[in-house]
Amino acid sequence: MRVSLETKDFAKYPFLKESQQFMLQENESLDKFLQRSAGKVALSHAVERVKRAVAFTGPVPPSFPISDLPSDQLGVRMEITSFVLARVLVSCARERALMERLARYEAQRAHSFIQAEEEEKRKFLAERIGFPLEGLFLPVPRYVELTAGMHEERWRLVNREVTGGKVTINTLESEELLKEQIRKGLLSSLPLEVPESLCSFVAPCTAQVQQEFQKRVLRDFGDVEESSFPPCMQAILSALSGGTNITHAGRFALTAFLHNIGMGTAEIVQVYGRAPDFDISKTQYQVEHISGRGGKGTEYTPPSCSAMRTLGLCIKPDALCGKVAHPLSYYRRKKGKKTGEKPEQGQVR
Ligand code: SF4
Repeated sequence: MRVSLETKDFAKYPFLKESQQFMLQENESLDKFLQRSAGKVALSHAVERVKRAVAFTGPVPPSFPISDLPSDQLGVRMEITSFVLARVLVSCARERALMERLARYEAQRAHSFIQAEEEEKRKFLAERIGFPLEGLFLPVPRYVELTAGMHEERWRLVNREVTGGKVTINTLESEELLKEQIRKGLLSSLPLEVPESLCSFVAPCTAQVQQEFQKRVLRDFGDVEESSFPPCMQAILSALSGGTNITHAGRFALTAFLHNIGMGTAEIVQVYGRAPDFDISKTQYQVEHISGRGGKGTEYTPPSCSAMRTLGLCIKPDALCGKVAHPLSYYRRKKGKKTGEKPEQGQVR
């Protein structure tokens, strides 16, 4: 059976080449479009889109009712434009974590639509996305590349069945990997190269989404509470205070951890000030680089528990460690427990 995409599909999968081609028929520059009232509406849709992405923090997905999707040409154009503008906003914000949230949200959204499609169309879409849902084996290099950002123990190669250079995956896992392929594809194209003039034009909207993101980070992590740090981070801190030389991997993990729980550069540098051999300018340079303010603006997250184990940085894990897969999740859960907050539904493990 020959599968073809309908207009409504472009709204479901705005990242596909076909959806972009559908938009190109309009032949109007983004700058000009934004001057019109339709452009302003699309921009406010884009802000809402990023806000929804910011609010999506866990594996329990928001629902994406098909009935909410437009089917008329104008509505579909608006949907695709809001997708494009959402990417513009996070690119202008230059916040890696924000780009990651958007990519994860968009991947979840597209994947939930794919799941509702008929078999032939699902296969067609998976192929267009670059992860054909045929067969339940993946060559090791492809598997390793695809699961690099998946932190659960079950994805580690040592926990997989490998036969003849191929990793066995089950049907459910192949769905998860399809979603991961969408996420990776979307993330790898960010940040977009947006002209300064366009970033200036959308600056009030960028500020709105940055504010929302900041609020979310504060809600997730709140005031820094050292007593809620996971054992690994506590161990690095005590080694630091005791004058022990910390490896580059250890410094990286600690800095990325502190940055992700909301500490600013100055505060992180102060933490390093506990070390007897503290060198302020060197530390400041390293902290800014890891926090994304220096160099190419790439922001880093600390390694997952499994990566920490590989690096020899998982020290004295406790009972809570058995329930998490990431030092940030440990912190969030322990802090939540102390303040009596219930873990939010769908929070990352
Ligand atoms: S299990 Fe994870 S959170 Fe716990 S000490 Fe090891 S790396 Fe840290």
